[in-house]
Amino acid sequence: MTPESFEPNTPELLSHNTVFAGQFDQIHRQVNPSRRMVIVTCMDSRMDIFQILGLENGEAHIIRNAGGVVTDDVIRSLCLSQRKMGTREIILMHHTDCGLQHVSEDDFRASIEAEIGVRPWWALESFADPYADVRQSIQRLYMTPFLIHKEHVRGFVYDVDSGLLREVELSHR
Ligand SMILES: [Zn+2]
Repeated sequence: MTPESFEPNTPELLSHNTVFAGQFDQIHRQVNPSRRMVIVTCMDSRMDIFQILGLENGEAHIIRNAGGVVTDDVIRSLCLSQRKMGTREIILMHHTDCGLQHVSEDDFRASIEAEIGVRPWWALESFADPYADVRQSIQRLYMTPFLIHKEHVRGFVYDVDSGLLREVELSHR
């Protein structure tokens, strides 16, 4: 078997950065997001959150992980964002055709254990239905004691084939 060849992208991206820094005009912008809001979403490479929502740099915190799942670390970031950086509004955004929809939690854990002898001590948090998972994530926000602003929380599923956001209705709060 020939090893898969891969050429790292970093050198090219660093040359992009030189061009970027040469035109840089965002000096002394406030650290607190000007729209006082946070977007929690998936790491999916097809989602440019700024483009999707018409956001500008400096306007919102963006917290991303696999799936846009509300994990302890997302709570950590939200807690800092609300308590120290003035945010009051949260948008949760999952999407169609998510990588986490194509993985079985049990198979994933078992295969890792078979390979390295250790089961992950974290959950992969795979899901079948992005709408149900947004509801689950919103419930987690409501249930955490660490957040102080829960009045303005809305959840959406982004359709990667149309660019449209669909709001997730909450059956109960
Ligand atoms: Zn995803």
